[in-house]
Amino acid sequence: MRIADRNPRETRNPKSGFRTSQREASEFRASAFGFPSGFGSRFSGFKVRALVILSLALLAGLATGYCVATGPDDISQYSPAAQSPYRLPWAAGQAHLCVQGNGGIVSHRDWERFAYDFTMPVGTEICAARGGKVLTVIVSHDGHGYHWTNNLVAIEHDDQTRGYYLHLKKDGSRVKAGDIVKQGQVIAESGHVGNSMMPHLHFHVTDAKRTSTLPITFSDVSQDAGIPRMFKTYSSGNLPPQ
Ligand SMILES: [Zn+2]
Repeated sequence: MRIADRNPRETRNPKSGFRTSQREASEFRASAFGFPSGFGSRFSGFKVRALVILSLALLAGLATGYCVATGPDDISQYSPAAQSPYRLPWAAGQAHLCVQGNGGIVSHRDWERFAYDFTMPVGTEICAARGGKVLTVIVSHDGHGYHWTNNLVAIEHDDQTRGYYLHLKKDGSRVKAGDIVKQGQVIAESGHVGNSMMPHLHFHVTDAKRTSTLPITFSDVSQDAGIPRMFKTYSSGNLPPQ
């Protein structure tokens, strides 16, 4: 679910402190609520407090889940989808589920916060989200697990940004370094390799020096401001090049 080609591995850092602060916030709010006298005649104070805390923890969990599922609140940093040079990286007419969007709670944090994960069967044809020059092809690895070595294709665009396609199938490349590819051209087959919990494609775009992932939209995603959201399915309009 992440990475740069200089070290084609994924790392995951679930340690964010967010859960702790949520729990603390829930406990604080719980302590601020009161109940009419007599309410607790059948319940001890401890049970009532435990119930309130559990309920608030559940609400906090649902709120967190909703925020994660619906993606970033601030979309001002994204370019309008209609003007986006990117299309979804699979063939037109196919639909795939976004299992982790930008800022996803599993691994799309910090450096890779603008990455996307889409589930798809191993062997699904991956199409260039944007045309450019193939910089890197690594498809010699197989298997998956924590910190497992990854496969990827990297494409440099005409503005020197770079698109990264990860977790590709072993020997699943249809291009080689130096090739010029067009948007919609099949470049690889998807896989389940590297730090991968299920067959899926991880896609992100970085700046020229790979110092950061960049917020991108897809011109063929008409809903959600062109920004795929977790647990929603998106149909591609990425037609093959003429
Ligand atoms: Zn990912």
